[in-house]
Order: sequence, then C-alpha cells, then structure tokens
Amino acid sequence: MEQMSLHIRRRVDCTVAREMRWQVASEFGAIDLSINLSRSEKDPKAIAAAKKLPQSGYPRCALCHENEGCRGTLRRSPFTLEGETWYLQYSPYVYYNEHCILLSAAHTPMKISKETFLRQLAFVTELPHYFIGSNADLPIVGDSILSHDHMQGGRYVFPMERAQIEIPLSFDGYPGITGGIVRWPMSVLRIRGRDRDALAALAARILSAWRGYTDESAVIYAETDGEPHNTVTPICRRRGEDYELDLVLRNNLVTEEHPLGLYHPHAELHHIKKENIGLIEAMGLAVLPARLKGELEAVAECILKDLELTAMPETEKHAAWAESFRGKYSFTPANVMEILKGEVGNVFVRVLSDAGVFKTDAAGRTAFLRFTDRIAQRI
Ligand SMILES: [Zn+2]
Repeated sequence: MEQMSLHIRRRVDCTVAREMRWQVASEFGAIDLSINLSRSEKDPKAIAAAKKLPQSGYPRCALCHENEGCRGTLRRSPFTLEGETWYLQYSPYVYYNEHCILLSAAHTPMKISKETFLRQLAFVTELPHYFIGSNADLPIVGDSILSHDHMQGGRYVFPMERAQIEIPLSFDGYPGITGGIVRWPMSVLRIRGRDRDALAALAARILSAWRGYTDESAVIYAETDGEPHNTVTPICRRRGEDYELDLVLRNNLVTEEHPLGLYHPHAELHHIKKENIGLIEAMGLAVLPARLKGELEAVAECILKDLELTAMPETEKHAAWAESFRGKYSFTPANVMEILKGEVGNVFVRVLSDAGVFKTDAAGRTAFLRFTDRIAQRI
C-alpha cells in the first residue's frame, strides 16, 4: 500500500499543473471546485445511449481486467471484498488525493444493493483512512460507465463529510445506529454505528423504501412506464471506531421542461455545468469542463473593458449570469478572476440543489420527512 501511495504521489505532482482548484464559502460550508484541463466535457445524452449498447464486442470495456493498460499504465492489485475478487487501481484523473478505483473482476453492470454496502464497509475496515463511494446505478444520476460495476475511494475529506446532521432521526430495531438528514443541498440520509451488519441491513431497508417511493406532490415517481427512477449514491467512511454511511437519494425523472433530468442541473446553469452529477460532485467537489478556463478569462476581459458579453460566442452563454452580478462589484484586473471563481461556486451550489430530490426549504424538508417517516422516527 505504501509503495502504491508513493507511486500515486508522483502522478499527483505532475497532474496538479493541469488543474485549477479553489474553494468557495457557502451556507453548506466550504465547497471545492476544480477545472480539469485534461478532461473533455461529457454529454449526458451520449452516456444514456451507451448503456443500451450490447455488453460485449467492440468497443471493449475499459474497466475489464483483461484490458488493463488500455487507459494508461497504472497497475491493478487484486483486492478481496466479501469473498469476491475486485481490483484496486489509482485513477489516471487524480481528482483528489489518492483517488482510487475499485473494479469488479466480473463484467457486471453497476447495481446498488445490500452487497454494495457490505463491500464498502469491508473496504474501510481494511483501509480505515480511505473513504469509498459508488456512483448510482441509473442513467442521468449515475456514472459515465454503467456497464461495469466499480467504486471510487481515496484519502480526501470532501465537503459533504464536514456537513452536519440537520434533523436527527432514530431507527426502530437498530438501537446502536444514529443518524439523520444532512445539512446539504442534495438529499442525504446519514447513518452511523459500530455494527457493520446492522448498518448494511438498515441501508438496504432505506434503499428498498426509496426505490419504491412515490410522492406526487414532491414530483417523485418510483417508476414511469416500467422505468425505475429512484436509487442512491452511497458513500462509506470511518469515524474513529464507528462506520458512517451517507445515502444520497437520487431520482432520474425527465420532464418536458427538463429533458436532461428534473434532478439534474437545469438549463440556465449549463453554461457552467451540464454534465451528470455523480459521486464526486455529490460530495461537494465540482469537476468543471476545461473550456471554462478560457471562457472565464474572456468574461473577465469583457467586464474589465466594459464590453458587451453577448458579442462573442465564448462569453455569450455566460452573459445573463455575468450581468446578474456585474453591478455588485468594483472589478479590477487583480480581483476579477477571484470574483468570477466565487460566482462559479455559487452556481455549483445551485447545481447541487437542482440535483437534490428534496429541497432545503421548509416545504422540501417536510417532504423529506414524509419519506423518512416510513423508516425512522424524528428525535
Ligand atoms: Zn467490463
């Protein structure tokens, strides 16, 4: 493990230069943002289409073990979880410290289940200084690769981990487990305790209740036309001797008004972020497209020279946003980029709010508690 850590640290050193990174204060605590200059923007529509492709044949699955090396030269090490073989490798993207990927040895689709929770709990038993999370198993709210089960971990404290419990809950039949609704723009149920089996059982019960949950008044439908919509993005970590699971409730409903997803960044935010909100972003680290660096510099130039933002294609898409705060600040060459990065942070919080199935206002919290009343008691 130590050796692998050293190996990755050298990679981090050479990757950092390819990234802009900053923090923005928000009502939910400090939020992390990054613009990854070596990664292209992914189209949510193309990802949804890829899941429908046959699971064998060309192109080969990049995550399958026999294709090790296709995406670079990073080594994979076998890692046994709950009696199954998985492979651990460090990510070629290095979005955060010691960013690693755990790959199922078998080419099986992403599926969140009780086994997922048990594997995650087993992983942080072996590596207590790492968190482990999984993307959801449905298009729009999940990862770009849904055809091969995998998880992501690392040694990094995400903003969500720092977020506190807003509404404490207790769970009948699980006396050793505490938890509640987390003060976070996405909808997170947190459970914590020492007993792995009890935690996995409760998480499975919450997942099952959520998968079948419909609340028309909150525009949540378990399914439409036989297509399931509800799932979770699970994250597991240690808190001293305790284990902690964060279950981010997800729903991938599309509507006429929001064809990319009702609980997905809405159209007016796509100039900053239109990609799916996966595990890393749900936890509060924005991974923004490389194009944004040049575009923000162009917006800065327009503002400093008092030019119309609608004049150029790279600034036009940002015009309404920039005009909304242009009068609020006195811009100088020294502060303009810092101000823009701060405003991008505000947009990212709205991105996360759009992805939240229950909003953080009073009506949203009331709706959230209608769901938790099925599985928990308010303290
Ligand atoms: Zn595969």
